[in-house]
Amino acid sequence: MIDVNDLVVSYGTATALEHVTLNVGKGEMVALLGPNGAGKSTLANTLAGLLKPSSGTVEIGGRLALIPEGRQLFPDLSVADNLALGGWRSGERDPSFVYDLLPRLAELARRRAGVLSGGEQQMVAFGRAMMSRPSVLVVDELSLGLAPNVTADLAAHLVELNQSRGLTVLLIEQNARLAFDLCSRAYVVESGRLVAEGECAELADDPRVAGAYLGGA
Ligand code: ATP
Repeated sequence: MIDVNDLVVSYGTATALEHVTLNVGKGEMVALLGPNGAGKSTLANTLAGLLKPSSGTVEIGGRLALIPEGRQLFPDLSVADNLALGGWRSGERDPSFVYDLLPRLAELARRRAGVLSGGEQQMVAFGRAMMSRPSVLVVDELSLGLAPNVTADLAAHLVELNQSRGLTVLLIEQNARLAFDLCSRAYVVESGRLVAEGECAELADDPRVAGAYLGGA
């Protein structure tokens, strides 16, 4: 569903991604790990068509939605209006299926997005992404700034969508433990380059990966 081949992306003269090749198959949930500034958001934004590759190819085999880093909600609009904006491209106007997926959003529908907690805002960003009825979801830092129990709740919804509805997911994370819990395979990017890839169980045993991302565990 996601096929990235020899991708190079630059900001002016600064290269943020260098010859990155990765793929996510239909129905898979795959992680992309890396430290600050590694190029993860650059990849997410390139997959979403917001940035153009300098070279290489990106192929997406279905409708893709992005939960962007930092949620990017309209804080003065209601939750319902933020969701409606997510349906703009697909023509989806009825949010009831999103309220079924994420029932808390029905309770929050009339609240202003800007007054919600971080976890609630991430749920709105999640629901807004689902309003485009995607077959592929790219999640840029699900856990950023959220308490572990809030992250776990959102992650459970993600797993449910992946397992019961076949949603293909690329989970971009700094939290390797979360990523390894949820995903079967992972890629590790540092300074714009892929430095490791494989099954999560194997990566967790790799001393370089464990040392850098699992606190030496
Ligand atoms: P973080 O988790 O901190 O967001 P990241 O892995 O998502 O990190 P990117 O945001 O993709 O990393 O940044 C990759 C590199 O590109 C960094 O060196 C960053 O400074 C640079 N960069 C990102 N956005 C821009 C921009 N708009 N203009 C110039 N350089 C940028």
